[in-house]
Amino acid sequence: MSFLLRNVKAYGEGDPVDLRLADGRIVEIGSGLSAGDSQPYDGQSGVLLPGLVDLHTHLREPGREDAETVETGTRAAALGGFTAVHAMANTDPVADTAGVVEQVWRLGRDAGHCDVAPVGAVTIGLAGEQMAELGTMADSAARVRVFSDDGHCVSDASLMRRALEYVKAFGGVIAQHAQEPRLTVGAQMNEGVNSSLLGLTGWPAVAEEAIIARDCLLAAHVGGRLHVCHVSTAGSVELIRWAKGHGWDVTAEVTPHHLVLTDDLAGTYDPVFKVNPPLRTKTDVEALREGLADGTIDCVATDHAPHALEDKEAEWGAAAFGMTGLETALAVVVQTMVEPGRLSWRSVAERLSTTPARIGRLEEHGRPIAVGEPANLCLVDLGARWTVDPAQSASRSRNTPFAGHELPSRVVATFLRGTPTVLDGRSA
Ligand SMILES: [Zn+2]
Repeated sequence: MSFLLRNVKAYGEGDPVDLRLADGRIVEIGSGLSAGDSQPYDGQSGVLLPGLVDLHTHLREPGREDAETVETGTRAAALGGFTAVHAMANTDPVADTAGVVEQVWRLGRDAGHCDVAPVGAVTIGLAGEQMAELGTMADSAARVRVFSDDGHCVSDASLMRRALEYVKAFGGVIAQHAQEPRLTVGAQMNEGVNSSLLGLTGWPAVAEEAIIARDCLLAAHVGGRLHVCHVSTAGSVELIRWAKGHGWDVTAEVTPHHLVLTDDLAGTYDPVFKVNPPLRTKTDVEALREGLADGTIDCVATDHAPHALEDKEAEWGAAAFGMTGLETALAVVVQTMVEPGRLSWRSVAERLSTTPARIGRLEEHGRPIAVGEPANLCLVDLGARWTVDPAQSASRSRNTPFAGHELPSRVVATFLRGTPTVLDGRSA
């Protein structure tokens, strides 16, 4: 099947062009191309980007299919403009063997909405005690390159050192959930003025920063590759700047929600705002935006964390940590970074596609928009403004912190290897 995508602006730059997509690739770019046998689609001068890539998605399958499945999660991803997502390992059973990562990879391939790159656990059962079979997962059909105990921190320094060293053999990366466990026992929200006022146990910035500092030093020591998940504090941004200044192989991500929401929202006691790492202060938000703009923070990752109603609609202390984010990620980045003039569309393509694909070693994603390249693309309607309605989400869960928010820009079409997964803003 071939497809003619008409009247689109690659990276939002220059005059609109037409692209012909066939055999999974971009085969022709020009103006006024004739449709011929191709199925035409008018992009209405929308911004064309390489398909987005998420380094941090929780798909919940196997084990919590009541919250999300690979099918529903990847459908939501495609609607958000993603053509590849990394599925976190904290499933049940944990993705700590070749068997489980291959199962997740196959479910993704069968669903067909976007590519699923399973993340392998660093330690068996996420228990932080024994290293999982990283090499076996790397050699499996799923070709795992990203390893993480996300949800838990690999807090044992010796284990972290060995993992960083081990994955060098196959170009792997350790993605760390930086949370010193002893400093965050019983933590419910950011430690600060608001936690004191509300009487909730605080999660101090230093618990994140101490692990990041330690891991940067360990990565430098063994010459390994470290990726820091969901950076949330101003101090963490400073530490990553410091590590990069030394030329160490350290990358970092920020979530859309940490770019806009603050710990003032804990005052609502609405558990939709309960997340790990917690929402921080205005000062932190500003530092994260600055870090993303200047490239200290390499990419945006959603940390899409769907939860079933009964796990989320509890009192604050009992509710699960996490928020959904696949369908709103791009719009939040547009609102916080593009509209204020802090990121160009080309930089958005880097931060949400090229760089996460490089970190995750996904060779067919995050490619330039050029003839001969894989046709993994997404098209954004700049003029659209929309109000987030959780009931309309393709995710099986409803825990979005942006319910009722009006957001700018909407993904209208997504192409996976030249085949539309989304057209007119709906699953194709
Ligand atoms: Zn995490």
